[in-house]
Amino acid sequence: MARSARITQGTQSVAVHLPASGQGRAEAFGPVDMNEPAHRALMMMLGAQSQREVLRARHRVLAAMRIQACEQGRYLGGRPPYGYRLVDAGPHPNQAHAQWGRRLRRLDPDPLTAPHVRWIFARRLSGVSVAGIARELNERGVPCPSRIDRKRNPHRSGQGWTLNTVATILENPRYTGRQVWDRQAGFDDTTAGWAISKKPAHPALVSDADFVAAQTIRAARPTRDGSVRVYLLAGLLLCGLCRRRMDSHWVNGRSGYRCRHGYDSTKPRPADAPKNHCLREDHLLDELTQQLSEVHEAESPHDLVSYLRANGLAVVCARSSCTVICANEKEPAPGKISQIELFASPMG
Ligand SMILES: [Zn+2]
Repeated sequence: MARSARITQGTQSVAVHLPASGQGRAEAFGPVDMNEPAHRALMMMLGAQSQREVLRARHRVLAAMRIQACEQGRYLGGRPPYGYRLVDAGPHPNQAHAQWGRRLRRLDPDPLTAPHVRWIFARRLSGVSVAGIARELNERGVPCPSRIDRKRNPHRSGQGWTLNTVATILENPRYTGRQVWDRQAGFDDTTAGWAISKKPAHPALVSDADFVAAQTIRAARPTRDGSVRVYLLAGLLLCGLCRRRMDSHWVNGRSGYRCRHGYDSTKPRPADAPKNHCLREDHLLDELTQQLSEVHEAESPHDLVSYLRANGLAVVCARSSCTVICANEKEPAPGKISQIELFASPMG
């Protein structure tokens, strides 16, 4: 078997044992002597080999977890987000694990906290600032995430809602019912590299459309005079000319929407390029309220917008008319039941 060496550092010493090679000889032919170049090289080689093994194991585990998250929507551990709790989801799919009684778990809405998450998204979508939401939650005495889960948050005061707690909830895609793993902190603008389950893995607390809309609202900058600009139809409008999502755009003291068809001040615009497409929000709301009145009696602009979002609808805006379509369809298909044709009427 192995010979041993003694590596001394200060007053501490560690015995190094090398396993015997196939022929029954220790690879160092004796005690390892770190002053000996050949022995040092041998130790470095063994070190590199074990490091490679660690890297390979890491790669295998991460690849497997990514597939489990994407394909199976598997819950891969970590604390459940505020609004959810963990429930049993049957025996583990791996038989060896199932045999010793390991169970799968999944997220399920927590009856106590889930309504608060839905409320937070609804408030955000109606244009309330993140700070305003935190204030309202504190005023109503709603327990904040760290107070609900004291055991996991001994380092937090549990004193109340902050800007950060509310913002963290509003940007967590797991509330759409999909399992998301490997979400990188600090890469706010991109979802590249995230493992997102293809199918819903647990009950959603917010629809996909509402979640996306909440992110658009989040991107809106506060104005210099501190006033809040609300764009009710943010994320719902598509340009009738180029199908791009229309930008929220403040014109003459009013909310409006604009499409520049892919051109901006950094790109020279050809003379024959279409003019910017601009629409006033109040005109659009009037038009939509009137045209949707047969299917939905909207009590307020907020109610109308909630109806559009709840039904996964989008609005294609041409120069003088608009058409309601299913948000996941690129083109309005004529004659579809899901589509409500709006009569052409001049706007602008
Ligand atoms: Zn356009």
